[in-house]
Amino acid sequence: MKDWTKEEAEATYRVSKWGEGYFDINSKGHITVNATSIGLPIPITEVVSEMRSQGVELPAVIRFHDILRSQVKKINETFREVINEASYQGNFNGVYPIKVNQMREVVEEIIDAGESYHYGLEAGSKAELLAVLAYNSNDNALTILNGYKDEDYLSLALMGTKLGRKIIIVIEKFSELPKLLKLSKKFKITPIIGLRGRMSIKGQGRWANSTGDRAKFGLSASEMIRAVQLMDEHGLKDSIKLFHFHIGSQISDIRTLKDAINEGARIYTQLFKLGCALEYFDAGGGLGVNYDGSRTNTDSSINYHLNEYVADIVYGLKQVCDLESVPHPNIVTESGRAITAHHSLVVTNVVDKICVSQTDFNTDPIKDEHILVTNMREMHEWTPDKDNYQEIYNEATQIREQALHAFNLGVINLEERAKLETLYWRVVDKVMTFAQTLKSMPESLQNLENDLSPQYLCNFSVFQSAADHWAIDQLLPVVPLTRLNERPGLTCSIADITCDSDGVINKFINQDKISPTMPIHDLSENEEYLVGIFLTGAYQDVMGDMHNLFGRLNEVHVYADADDPQGFYIEEIIKGNTSSAVLSTMQYNPEYMAQRMKKVVSKLVSQGQMQPRQGVKWVDFYEDCLTSYTYLKSE
Ligand SMILES: *Cc1c(COP(=O)(O)O)cnc(C)c1O
Repeated sequence: MKDWTKEEAEATYRVSKWGEGYFDINSKGHITVNATSIGLPIPITEVVSEMRSQGVELPAVIRFHDILRSQVKKINETFREVINEASYQGNFNGVYPIKVNQMREVVEEIIDAGESYHYGLEAGSKAELLAVLAYNSNDNALTILNGYKDEDYLSLALMGTKLGRKIIIVIEKFSELPKLLKLSKKFKITPIIGLRGRMSIKGQGRWANSTGDRAKFGLSASEMIRAVQLMDEHGLKDSIKLFHFHIGSQISDIRTLKDAINEGARIYTQLFKLGCALEYFDAGGGLGVNYDGSRTNTDSSINYHLNEYVADIVYGLKQVCDLESVPHPNIVTESGRAITAHHSLVVTNVVDKICVSQTDFNTDPIKDEHILVTNMREMHEWTPDKDNYQEIYNEATQIREQALHAFNLGVINLEERAKLETLYWRVVDKVMTFAQTLKSMPESLQNLENDLSPQYLCNFSVFQSAADHWAIDQLLPVVPLTRLNERPGLTCSIADITCDSDGVINKFINQDKISPTMPIHDLSENEEYLVGIFLTGAYQDVMGDMHNLFGRLNEVHVYADADDPQGFYIEEIIKGNTSSAVLSTMQYNPEYMAQRMKKVVSKLVSQGQMQPRQGVKWVDFYEDCLTSYTYLKSE
C-alpha cells in the first residue's frame, strides 16, 4: 500500500523545513540524514540495524558528528562572508557555551571543527570552567567566563590566564570586581575583563526575563560607570576588553535582535569613549532553531535565517561605530542551541497502543436487562444523519453519565457497566465516522476527536530525553522513521513508559498547524514501528533527570564515510545506564541488595519450599537484571 507521495509526507511533517537540509525522506519512505556533502543520504533505520548488530538496544541517542561540524563551519563561514562583504574591520571570534551540551565528545568535536577559525568555549560554572580550561587548548581562541563567580572560580580563571589562554572574565555582578582585583593582586596576574550589560530592550517569548530591570545578570548603567572608575583607580582600565550581553535563548523575532544590537553598540561606543581599551563585542547566545518548520516568530520557531542574523549584527554594529567614530570591534557570539540542536536524535520503538474507546466486549441482550443498557442499545441502533448526529451524541453521553451514577450507587453491576460503555463507544464511533464526512468537523466534536485519539506507548522517558517538552512546552519534531510512503491512518499522541501522567508528548507539527496529536500509521503485527524525536542536541541531551530511575540512554556516534559500503560507520558506543548504576546514584549498594535476595532464597531452599536449582536460577536472574539496561527490552 504505497499510496502517499513524498510531497504529502513533507507537507505533514515538514522534515526538510526543520531539518535545514540535514534530514529528508527517501523514495522508500524512510527518513535519511544528509550528514555531509560526501556519501549518500543515510537512512536512520540502517544506523539502527547496525547499532543492533553491535548489541546496542533501543531507545538510543544517535549523534551525527558531521552535522555538528557542519554547523560550526556554517556559522564561522557566514560571519566571514558578511564581514568581507560589509568591509567590516573586525574579526569573528565565536565561542560555544558548553552548558548547552557538555558531553566531552560534543565539545571535542566542536573544538576540532572550529580549530582553523579559532572558535572558543564559554563556561558558566566552576565545573564547566574546569572542563573548558582542560579542553580549550588553542591559545588563539577565546575562553569566555560567565555565571556567578566565587574566589575559586576567579582563581581558576587567573590560573588559565597565567597558562597563556585568552580568558575573558565577564563581570556579571558588581561585587565580583573587587574580589577579582584582590586575587589579581595576590597572584600578580592581570586579568582580561568583560562587562555584561543589563539591557533595557524587551526580550520576548519564554526567555523575556533575561533583560530589563529585574534581570538576574548584568550591570546597570551606573554600575558600568562605577566598574570603569574602580578599574581606573587600580590602573587597570586597559584590561576591560569586552562588552557582553545575552538577551535570552531562542530569539524568535529578528526585530528583537536588531534592537539589542543597537542598544549594545551604543553602550559599547560609550564605554570606549570612557577610555576602556575595548576590542570585543559579545552578542551572547539566542540564535534560534526552526523547531516547527514554520519560520515564524512563534515560540517554536524563528522568522529569520542565519544570514540575516549575522548581517544584522555586522551591519548594525558597523553603523553605530561609524557614526560614533569608534573602531569596529571583533565580534563574539555564544550560540549553543543553533550549533548543537540538529546533531542528535532519540530513536524509540512503539511498544503498545492505549485506546480510549473499547468496542469489542460482547453486548448481546439478556433477559431482565437494566433499562439504561437497553437505552444505550437503542441509541446504537440509530443511524446518524446531519439532523440528528449531535442529538445522538448528547443523549448517549447523558445515559453514560447516569449509568456511572447508577454504578456508584450499586444499582448496576460491573458487567452491565462494561456492556453499556462498549455500546457507548460504538455510538461515538458511528457519530465520528459520520462527522468526518461533513465539510469540516463541527466545533462541538473537535475536542472529542483529540480525546478519542489513541496514545502510542513509546520506550523512553520524557523526563530524560525531552525535558523541555515537559518543563516549558517545547516543541520537538516527532516523526516515524519508516512508512512515509504510506498514508498515516490514525492520529495519536505519544506516552512514555514512566509512571507519570505528565510523561507524554502532545505537541506536534501536523500539516500547517501545531496539534495535540500527530498523523501516524496503524501498527502491524510483525513489524516494529520506530519513531524519532529530533533536534534533541541542545539542552535535551544533558538536562534529563532520573525520574523512575531510567537514566541515560544507549548512545552511538556516527560519521559519514563515502568509502564505506553503507556510507557511514559507528565510531563510538556509549552504553546507557544499567539498573545498578542508577540505583547506586540513590545510595543503594547493588551487591548488598543481591546478597539480601540470596539470603531470603537460601532460607526458602533450606526449609524445603524451593528447589536448590530453582533458587540459584532466581538469584542469577535478579543479578542479571541489575546489570541490564533500565528501559524495556524488545521481545
Ligand atoms: C545559555 C547561554 C548561552 C547560549 O544560548 P543559546 O540560545 O543556546 O545560543 C549563551 N550565553 C549565555 C550567557 C548563556 O547563559
